[in-house]
This record gives sequence, structure tokens and C-alpha cells, in this order.
Amino acid sequence: MPAKKKTTAKTDTAKKTVAKKAPVKKTTKKVSKKPMKTPELVRGMKDILPDQGYRWAQFFDHASKTAQAYGFRYVSTPILEPANLFQRSLGKGTDIIDKEMYVFEDKDGSKLALRPESTASIARSYINHGLHTLPQPVKMWHFGPKFRHERPQAGRYRQFHQFDCDTLGVHAPVVDAELIALAYHIVHDLGVEATVRINSIGSLEDRQNYLVEFVGYLRSKRAYLSEESKKRINKNPLRILDSKDEADQEVIAEAPQIIDWLSKDSKDYFMKVLEFLDELEIPYELDPTLVRGLDYYSDTVFEIYVTGEEGEARLALGGGGRYNGLVEELGGQPTPAAGFGLGIERIMLALDRAQEKGEDIALATKPTYQFYLAQLGEKAQKRALHIVEQLRKADIPVAFHLAKSSLKAQLELANKAGASHAVILGQKEVQDGTVIIRDMDSGIQEIVDQKKVVKHLTKLLAKLQK
Ligand code: AMP
Repeated sequence: MPAKKKTTAKTDTAKKTVAKKAPVKKTTKKVSKKPMKTPELVRGMKDILPDQGYRWAQFFDHASKTAQAYGFRYVSTPILEPANLFQRSLGKGTDIIDKEMYVFEDKDGSKLALRPESTASIARSYINHGLHTLPQPVKMWHFGPKFRHERPQAGRYRQFHQFDCDTLGVHAPVVDAELIALAYHIVHDLGVEATVRINSIGSLEDRQNYLVEFVGYLRSKRAYLSEESKKRINKNPLRILDSKDEADQEVIAEAPQIIDWLSKDSKDYFMKVLEFLDELEIPYELDPTLVRGLDYYSDTVFEIYVTGEEGEARLALGGGGRYNGLVEELGGQPTPAAGFGLGIERIMLALDRAQEKGEDIALATKPTYQFYLAQLGEKAQKRALHIVEQLRKADIPVAFHLAKSSLKAQLELANKAGASHAVILGQKEVQDGTVIIRDMDSGIQEIVDQKKVVKHLTKLLAKLQK
């Protein structure tokens, strides 16, 4: 009986469904064939594609390992921050705040910004989480996208990526030197000949004394300055030192130099930083016009360039400096700090340029594989994935294309991948629990027990790498 009931219920539901269905109307309306326009990349943004991706991934591996070796620990802060975090930190009269920051209103009306840099975020995070209670200094590395609405050109994007390191809680020349050495080695180890440009802008007090003199000088030369620099005399005079305008350059060449206005303490501090750089044999040039133009900087400021590049071609690979007043400015306890940011797109560009010149570059654009795993038939395909896993766990790089069914095609791919040996798995091998290891050059083949394949390839790899 219950079975009958069930059948009735089912039939009822089916009937209902059929009854509900609307009659299918025939339409004579033609479907428009006009293709939909594919959305475009936003101006100033860049996709990182597989041909560059391998280099990017290797860069992170190298840079993060180097930072960790220097005692830095990974942290991450959000891309979105309150807009006033940057306004208070970087200061008005800077291009970033006045022109370049992406600011928008959130649903609750609050003003948010896409971070244009990360020093302010690190200082905020240090205060918010009471990191001053940890043993000092707190050394942190981080990376990620930054956003500035700049005019896009080679090496300049509206979304770009930086690899940053910051040391908070200690004021000592050796800390500045340590940061500079770290930034320099990250770049230099890749095969890019780099030079550090360095200056000191002293303490806040030194800078105020200098500004009185400097602004007086600028006013006396006002007529010779570019329109942009004229506007900056009152807003942010130090930024005039960054100007590339030829007329400004002449005025700057004769201007009083900040280094002559440093107190004895600031000068001694700077000299010690330079002594450490000498000791470490890090190539540097003193640049009296380098000021980095943001409010939060104090004492040591530096940038890293490709050695020998001048004029238009010259691109900074990174920059940084001390920011002793920032944590306090944002409401924290007085906390000396210093840091740097390396521009990853710029480093990639420097690598491309060096490669074009035939120089020896550390980061390859694609991985190399010693071994290629080829399979034939469904059972072998299944077995192959197990072998891929075993080899991965043993850190043996192997290339494969498991969706390919022809052995000939797979061996061609093995050749293209530059593999010296193919690991072949056919129906027979699956049955026997073996694999064939084929020397791609000589064609000599060896049969190896599947259980011993990891051991066998580990030995072979060691022999090949000798
Ligand atoms: P900054 O602190 O502004 O000097 O930036 C540090 C580094 O980030 C620079 O030396 C560049 O390598 C990189 N960088 C800054 N702005 C951009 C940009 N718009 N596009 C690409 N890289 C940038």
C-alpha cells in the first residue's frame, strides 16, 4: 500500500509540473549578432601574464628570503585605509596627496583611500596593535599593490607593486645601514648593478632652520623658477629640489644645501651611516638635492638606481629613509623608525634592460625541467598524478601534460621543456608497477620499479647537477 501511495503522489506532482509549464512561444525576433565589447584594462594598470609571472614569483621568493635572513617578519595591511591617514602622514603640498591619491566615499560616507604607499599603514598598524610592547625593534617586511593616479609611462603605472621593509623602535645608524644593505642586496643579487643615492635631511628642527634660508633664496630667484616650482615655494619648497625642469635645475645648483644646516648630532649620525656603507662596500653617491619630499621623513633618505643610467632613462628602483616623527604624529608614543620600498615593476624593467644588453641575470623567465612525465592510456593517466605528487613532495621538478594521449606528442613537449629524461608510464608499466626512464639524447631506456622512482630520480638529478 505505501508503494501505491508513493506512486500517486509522484504522478500528482508530475501533473502539476506539466500543468504549470507555459506553452512555448515561437519567436520570430532576430537575435542581434553584434558582438559585446570586451572590457578593457583600466588605464595605468597592468596584467602580469604567465611569461612574466615566473619571474615575479621568483622575485618574491628571493626578496622574502633575504628579508627573513635579516630578521624581518612578514606582515600585511589592507589596501583600503582612511584617507586622512595619508593626508596626515605625507602632508599637503605633495603630489601624492594633492593629485594622485584615489579617494572615494564609502557607503557610510567615510572617506577611504587606495593606499598610495605603505609607511603610514605600517605606523598605524604598529599603534593600533600596541607593537611598542614587543621587544624593539620590530622588523617587518610586506609587499603588495599601491595606487597613484600618475601619468602612465614606461615603468610608471597607476597600480604598481612594492616590496617594503620597516624597522620600528630604534634610532641607530647601523639600522639605517642595515636597511640600505638589505635593499641593495635584494636588487644587486639579481644581477642588476645598482648605486645608492643618499642624503640626510636632519631632524625636524634642522629642517626648519634650513627652510628659512632655502625659502629666502627661492624667493630671491622666483623669476627664474618654473610655474610649478613658484607655486611650491609656499606649499612644499623641499619638493623643488626634485624638479627635473632645466630652469629649476640652475636655481637648485646654486641653492644652499640642507647638509650644511644639520646639527652636530645629525651630521655625526649621518657620517656613521656612511661609515657602515663603506665597511659593507655598498656603492653610494652623496646627493645633496635628495629630500624625498614627504613630511614624515627625517635624517637619512636614500634611493636606489641602476648604475650608469642617467637622464630620462634613469628610474629609481626603490627609496626610503628614516621617519622618526610619524608614529607620534599619528597618536602613538615617540617611536624612531626607518624603512624602504622597492618598486617591483621597475626591477622587472631593469632586468629586461640588462638582459637585452646580454648581461647575466639571476631570475629566469620560465622554469627549467630536468624530467618530463609521459603517460599512455587511462590507467596510466591516473597513476601519473600519483607520481607527480610523489615527485613534488621530494622536490623533484617534473613537467607533464596529462591530457595529451600520444607518446610522440609528449616526447616533443619533453624536448621543448629541455628535459634530459622522460619518465614513461604505459599500460604495461601500470600493470608491472614500473616506469621507463628514457634518456632524451641517446634514447637509452631503463625500467625502474615505481616504488623506487623517487630515489632513482633524486640520484639522477644530483648526478646531472654536478
Ligand atoms: P617612492 O616611495 O614614491 O619613491 O616609491 C618607491 C619606489 O616605488 C620607487 O623608487 C619606484 O621604484 C616605485 N614606484 C613609485 N611610483 C611608481 C609608479 N607609479 N609606477 C611604478 N613604480 C613606482
